[in-house]
This record gives sequence, C-alpha cells and structure tokens, in this order.
Amino acid sequence: MAKVLVFVEQRDGKLKKSSFELLGASAAAGNETHAVLIGDSVAGLANECAQYGANKVHMVQDAALKNFTGEAYARAMIAAVKAISPEIVLASHTPIGKDFFPIVAAMTDGALATDCTSLAFNGAKLALKRPVYSGKATAEVEFVGTGVQMATVRPNAIGLPKPDASKTADASAIAADFSGLKTKVLEVVKGNSGRPDVTEAGIVVSGGRSLKSADGFKILEEMADVLGGAVGASRAAVDAGYRPHGDQVGQTGKVVSPALYIACGISGAIQHLAGMRTSKVIVAINTDPQAPIFQVADYIVVGDLFQIVPALTAEFKKLKE
Ligand SMILES: Cc1cc2nc3c(=O)[nH]c(=O)nc-3n(C[C@H](O)[C@H](O)[C@H](O)COP(=O)(O)OP(=O)(O)OC[C@H]3O[C@@H](n4cnc5c(N)ncnc54)[C@H](O)[C@@H]3O)c2cc1C
Repeated sequence: MAKVLVFVEQRDGKLKKSSFELLGASAAAGNETHAVLIGDSVAGLANECAQYGANKVHMVQDAALKNFTGEAYARAMIAAVKAISPEIVLASHTPIGKDFFPIVAAMTDGALATDCTSLAFNGAKLALKRPVYSGKATAEVEFVGTGVQMATVRPNAIGLPKPDASKTADASAIAADFSGLKTKVLEVVKGNSGRPDVTEAGIVVSGGRSLKSADGFKILEEMADVLGGAVGASRAAVDAGYRPHGDQVGQTGKVVSPALYIACGISGAIQHLAGMRTSKVIVAINTDPQAPIFQVADYIVVGDLFQIVPALTAEFKKLKE
C-alpha cells in the first residue's frame, strides 16, 4: 500500500474524466488515496473526488488560480506535496498536466515518468509502461532511490471506475504563497465547436490532407456529432489550414487513446501513428490498399472517404434512432 496524491484537474468547474481514472486505479490497489483540487473556487467538486476513490480531498484555492498558469499551479501542487508527503504523485498527461508536472518534480526532488500508458502499484513502488521511439517500442519504468515517484498518465489508458454516489469528501484546505507571480492570463479565447477535446473523447474521427479543404471536414464533423466524438486531424491537414492546431494528432500534436479512432484519408506516417496507435479500436478508410495506416488498423475500408463517411454516418444515425 502506498500514499498516493492525485492531481484532479478541473476546467471551468468541471472535473476531467481522466483524473477519475487515476483515483480509481489508486483506490482499487488499496492505496491511501489523496486528491488535490486546484482553482479559485473548487470546494463544490470535492464530493465527486470521493465518489471516484479519494479517501481525502485537499483544496488549494486562490484568485491567482482562476486560469491555469504553470507557475501558479506548480506553487499550489508543490505546497500540496510538501503538506501531504506522498510516496507517489499522479496527474493526467493533458496539456495542463504535462505543462506543470516537470516543475513540481524538479522543485520537490521527485522523479517523473511522462505519458505513461499503464501503471501498477507494487507496494509503495510504481511500475509504469510508456511508449518510446514514436510508439515503436514500450519502456518499462521503475524508480530507484527514495524520492517522490511521479507520473503523468495518458487519458483513456486505464478506464473509468464506477462512482459510489453515497460517498462524501473528507476535505480540507492547503495554503500556498502566490505573491510575486511573473505570469498572468489576460484573456482566454475558447473554441466554440461544443465537441470534446481529442485527448478526452471516447471516439475520435480524424481526417487528413485528402479532405481537401476546411469545408471537406464537415462530413467528419457530422459523423463525430452523431457519435458524440471529437474531430482530429493529421499535421498535413492542419498545415493546410483545414483544422486548428488543437485538433492535430501525432508526435507534434496531441496524443490520444480513445475507445474508437476513425482515420479518414490519413496515410499513417510514423509521426501520426505516434499520437494514436494506443487507441483501443482503429478503423481506417483509405483509397490506397497499401496505406501504412492499415498496418495498425483493426478494421480497414479501402475506398473513397467522400462516399464511405456519409454512408456510415447515415447508418450510425439509424442505429441511434
Ligand atoms: C518532425 C515531424 C513531426 C510531425 N508531426 C506530425 C504529427 O504530429 N501528426 C501528423 O499527422 N503528422 C506529422 N508529421 C507529418 C507526417 O510525416 C505526414 O506528412 C502527415 O501525417 C501526412 O498527413 P496525411 O496522412 O493527412 O497526408 P498524406 O500523406 O498526403 O496522405 C493522404 C492519404 O489520404 C489517402 N486518400 C486520398 N484521397 C482519399 C479519398 N478520397 N478517400 C480515402 N483516402 C484518400 C491517400 O491514399 C493517402 O494515404 C510530422 C512530420 C515531421 C517531419
């Protein structure tokens, strides 16, 4: 059994599912599981942390934490690590987690393994797996020495635990010093698609250069909306201006691990595979029977995506009805 501290991520007062995966994995291993919530007003989220497995919930609340900055969040998390003295500290490998956890590790003399796709608790020791060489190999990671063991874990890699709605949180506050911060968020400009982020979504419908234009992606948006999924893109599509960079999947984009990844007109370059090959089920649609994406796909469709995608969307609609 270990003392585990999980950074539970919230955005606009909504908790991230990927944090529940970590709470659930720690609780299932019988660990003393602590959650830390960071923000300007997070007390209302504490019970949900308990319902997903936290024995104790800590809150660092300050106006300086209203919008994420690596500097302020690191100060909050460092205060939590020092107050709780955990053996293991976990976060999701989201844009926020991967931004500030290296600072926390450096400032608390911890060791950090990033972008892990599996984790196991051997007593107080963490055993992790993480893809290396763009996903061509998997490294097994264990920590040596006595420092804090830290890991960021890829969303959707573990699976969600069942919440226990009867639980309420044992919650308390942790103080941290936010004086003299050097960064300040002036404005947050949000995308307005209403769809989930590719890293969070259970289903990702992704398109490549072959969509030919931003308008071309409408057929993928329709499919994603019917499935309740996100729209992703290859770098070629992003570079061509068809999609925003936030949708890019791959080595220089986002890493995703959804239950279902539908790759439409994407060749399957190694840099793209690096961002999606750990998806649970991969469907690839491509006119080229030799397309490299077919080597990682569970289901392959050789054909024109402009015919196949609308036909599939129509079938999905019928199934939903
Ligand atoms: C340092 C570096 C980092 C990179 N990072 C990334 C990254 O993060 N993500 C990423 O995606 N790429 C990345 N790339 C680029 C990568 O190497 C590829 O160039 C890119 O992924 C290709 O995108 P694509 O598959 O959309 O386009 P293409 O390679 O042009 O492939 C288009 C595919 O669509 C098929 N097709 C054409 N018409 C149709 C149709 N009507 N119906 C069905 N199929 C059709 C074709 O057969 C082809 O397979 C990176 C490259 C470098 C050098």
